[in-house]
Amino acid sequence: MKSATDGPLATALATPAATCAPPAKGEPYLLTPGPLTTAFSTKEAMLRDWGSWDGDFRAMTAQLRHSLLEIAGDTLGNEAGDYDCVPLQGSGSYCVEAMLGSLIPRDGHALVLANGAYGKRIATTLRYLGRAHTVLDKGDYLPPRAAEVERMLDADPSITHVVAVHCETSSGILNPIEEIATATAAKGRKLLIDSMSAFGAIPLDVRKIACEAFVSSANKCIEGVPGFGFVIARKSALHEARGCSHSLSLDVHDQWDVMNRTGQWRFTPPTHAVAAFMEALRLHKLEGGQPARLARYANNRDVLVAGMHELGFEPLLNARWRSPIIVTFFSPAHPSFNFELFYELMKQQRFIIYPGKLTVVDSFRIGCIGQVDEAVMRRVVQACATSLQTMGVDHAAPPAAAIEERKVLADAA
Ligand SMILES: *Cc1c(COP(=O)(O)O)cnc(C)c1O
Repeated sequence: MKSATDGPLATALATPAATCAPPAKGEPYLLTPGPLTTAFSTKEAMLRDWGSWDGDFRAMTAQLRHSLLEIAGDTLGNEAGDYDCVPLQGSGSYCVEAMLGSLIPRDGHALVLANGAYGKRIATTLRYLGRAHTVLDKGDYLPPRAAEVERMLDADPSITHVVAVHCETSSGILNPIEEIATATAAKGRKLLIDSMSAFGAIPLDVRKIACEAFVSSANKCIEGVPGFGFVIARKSALHEARGCSHSLSLDVHDQWDVMNRTGQWRFTPPTHAVAAFMEALRLHKLEGGQPARLARYANNRDVLVAGMHELGFEPLLNARWRSPIIVTFFSPAHPSFNFELFYELMKQQRFIIYPGKLTVVDSFRIGCIGQVDEAVMRRVVQACATSLQTMGVDHAAPPAAAIEERKVLADAA
C-alpha cells in the first residue's frame, strides 16, 4: 500500500534542500576553518573601493559593531548595553594578543586552560607580553572541567583572570565554557574567551556566560573573508584597559576610544574585508542567526561522521565533546594509507582538508563550517571513499593504539 508518506515526494520533503551554492569557477571547497568557503555574494561585495574616512564606510563599521553585539546577546546595542564591540585589523591571533595585553593588567596573573594548539598559543602570547601565567595543560583532547579550575583558583589567590578556548580547533573539542564561566565567577575571577571558531554558531550570550571579554574573527562562523577580528568586552573592562597595553597597534582601549569618537578605525581598515563581512552578516541573519547556523553545521558534522564511519573511519572525540565546527579522524592503520597522497586525491576532487595536530597518533581534520551543507558533506564522504580505493585501502579502521587513546577520553569525561 502506497500512502502520501512514501515515494519520491516524501523523500524529497524529508531531504532538506541544499542551502549553499557551490564555489564559483571550479574552486575547491575549503574544509579548513578558516579561511573557509564563502558565499558568492560575500566575495562579490569586495568589488568596489571604499574610503576609510568616508561616511558610508563609517556607517558600515557602526552597523558591524551593532550586529555583532546583537549576536552576543547584548540586544541594547552600543549605546545602552554593558558590552561593546571593538573590531581590530589582523588575523584572530592579533585580537587574542590585543585582548590579553589590554585587559590583563601588567601585575595580573592568568590561568590558561589549554587543550591544544590555540591554548598553547595563548600561553606563548602571555610569555611574550611578560604577563604572569599558569597553564592547566590537558593534553590534546581532554576538556578542562569546573572542579579543577576551582581547585587551581583556590590554590593560588594571585590569579586574576582565567583564559579559556571555546572550541579548540586543533582537535575540534567543544570546551564546557558554561561551567568554566560559572566556576570562574564563583571564585571572583575574570574570564577571557578565545571564541574564534565558535562565535556565530555556538551560543555565546553575554547575559548567560559571565565573561569579561571574548574574541572572534571575520573568517570563521560568520563566514567572512580574513582581515580582521573583534573583541567584545564589558565597557567597564574597556575603561580599565586604558594605558595597560604594551603595544600601540594592539591597544584595544585606544582603538575603542578613537572609534567611539570618530567612527573610524585608528589605522587603515581592511575595507574590502569589512564590506564582505557586512554581506556575510546579512546572510547569517537571513539564515536564522546563530541557532540556524548551529543546526546546519551540526547536521554537516552528523552526516560527515556517519558516512565516514561506514568507510571504517573513527573520530577522535566521543559525541559529547565533538564540536560542529571541525572533526578529527584517526588516519587508517592500513599500510597503503598515506596522508599526503590522500590530501592530493581529495584536492583533485575539489576538497581541501586539514592535517591533524595530535601528538600521539596520526590524524586529519575535516571542517564543517562555511558555505557547505549536507549534500556537500555526502560528496566529501564519497570523495574519501574514492581516494581510499585509489590508494588500495580497503578499510579505514584506525590502529589499535588510537582506540586505546580514545578510551582515556571516555574514562575522563
Ligand atoms: C582560527 C583560530 C585562532 C586565530 O588564528 P589566526 O590564524 O590568527 O586567524 C585562534 N584561536 C582559535 C581557537 C582559532 O580557531
